[in-house]
Amino acid sequence: MIKAITGTKDILPGDIPKWRYIENLVRSILEEFNYNEIRTPIFEETRLFARGIGEETDIVSKEMYTFEDRGGMSLTLKPEMTAAVVRALIEHSLHKKSQLNKLFYISPMFRQERPQAGRLRQFHQFGAEAIGSNDPYLDAEMIVIAHDILKEIGLKNLTVVINTLGIPSERESYKNELKNYLKNHYDRLSSESKRRYETNILRIFDSKEEQDIEIMKNAPLLIDSLGKESIEHFDIVKNALDKLGVKYEIEPKLVRGLDYYTHTTFEIVSGSVGSQSALCGGGRYNGLVAQLGGDDLPGVGFAAGIERILLACENENILNVPDDKIDVYVALLDKNLNEDSFILTTRLRQKGLKAERDYLSRSVKAQMREANKLNASYVLFFGGEEYKDKKAVLKNMESGEQTDISIDDIESVVEKIKRG
Ligand code: AMP
Repeated sequence: MIKAITGTKDILPGDIPKWRYIENLVRSILEEFNYNEIRTPIFEETRLFARGIGEETDIVSKEMYTFEDRGGMSLTLKPEMTAAVVRALIEHSLHKKSQLNKLFYISPMFRQERPQAGRLRQFHQFGAEAIGSNDPYLDAEMIVIAHDILKEIGLKNLTVVINTLGIPSERESYKNELKNYLKNHYDRLSSESKRRYETNILRIFDSKEEQDIEIMKNAPLLIDSLGKESIEHFDIVKNALDKLGVKYEIEPKLVRGLDYYTHTTFEIVSGSVGSQSALCGGGRYNGLVAQLGGDDLPGVGFAAGIERILLACENENILNVPDDKIDVYVALLDKNLNEDSFILTTRLRQKGLKAERDYLSRSVKAQMREANKLNASYVLFFGGEEYKDKKAVLKNMESGEQTDISIDDIESVVEKIKRG
C-alpha cells in the first residue's frame, strides 16, 4: 500500500471544521488590523532562501527540500514565508504603490526535520509581514495580533517571550565580546556549538546540550550592550504591550534561528504541547529587503504553526467546533420517483439550502438514520400518499412537527425551511 510521506498529514473531512475555524479567525483578525492577503508559489529559486534566511541557519543548512528541475535550476519548497513575501514585494514594486505594505498569508511550508509531535515536514503557517516602517508600534502590533488570535481560539497556557537584538553594528561588537567570553570555555562546548562559534555564535544560546547551557548561563548578554536608540525602541514596544494588557517575559537569550532579525524578537509558547512549545515566532528584520536586492526597507513579522496550535487545543480540550448541519434531507418513499426526488433536491440546493438525498436505494428507515447522522434540521418525505396532490411532508427534526407542503412552489419550501 502506498502511504503518505513521513512527516506529512492528510487533513480529513472530520478535521476540516477546526482548520476552517482557525483560518476564518486569522483572516478576520488580520483584516481588522488592515492586513491584505498575499499568496506566493510553493517553490522558489533556492538562492532566495539561502540568501534570505542565511546559509548558516538550520533551515538552510539541513532542512530544505531542494531539487533540480529538468532544466537544471535549483528549486526549493518554501520553508518559510518572509523571504518569499519580500521577493514578491520587490518584484512587483509594491513599496512604490504603498509606502507601508501590511500583508498576511496562510500557506503550507516544507522542512525536512525529524518528525515528532508538533514537528512535521509539511506543515501550515499563518503569519503577517509589515514592510516599510521602523515604527516600534508595528513590533507591538505583531505581538498583539498573534496573541489575540491564540487567545480568541481559547488557548490558556500561553507565555509571550520577547527580546531585542538591537542593530547589526551593536550585534557585531557584542559577538566579539561573546567570543572573548567563550574562548575560555571553548574546549567544553559541544561539537555543534564549536561549529556555531565559528559560523553563527549567537545560536549557541539555542543549544539544548547541558554543557552548553551551563556555559551560557554566565555569558554576557546582548541586551546589556545595546545603544540608546535600540533601548528606546524596545521600551516603546514594552510600554505598548503593558497598556494593552499583554503580559510578557523578557528572555535575553531568545536569539531565534534566523540571521535577519533586528530589534524585537518574540515567541509565544504554550505549556500544553511538550518540547516543541513555540506556537509562533517573529520579529523585526530591517536588513532583509536590501539583502534580497530591494530598497533599504525595514520590516517586521511573525509566523504561527497551525498543526501545533491544534495540538495545543487538543491537549487543552478546546476548539470543539460543533458538527456541521444540513438544512434538509429528502427521504424518498417511492422508488419510482427517484428522478423527481433528484430534481427536487437539486432545485433546493440551487436555491441556497444545504440538502442531501439517498443515492444508495436505501430503505426509508436507513434514510432516516442517514438524515440523523447528517444532523438534518428537516426531513422532506417525498412520494407518499400526498404526492398525488403535489405535496410532501416536511418534518422539523427538532420539534417533531410535520406539515404537508406543496412541492410545486420551490420558493415557499425553501422559505419555510430557512425560516426554521
Ligand atoms: P519558525 O518559522 O521556525 O519561526 O516557526 C514559526 C512557527 O511555525 C513555529 O512556532 C511552529 O508553530 C511552526 N513550525 C515551525 N516548524 C515546524 C514544523 N517542522 N512542524 C510544525 N510546525 C512548525
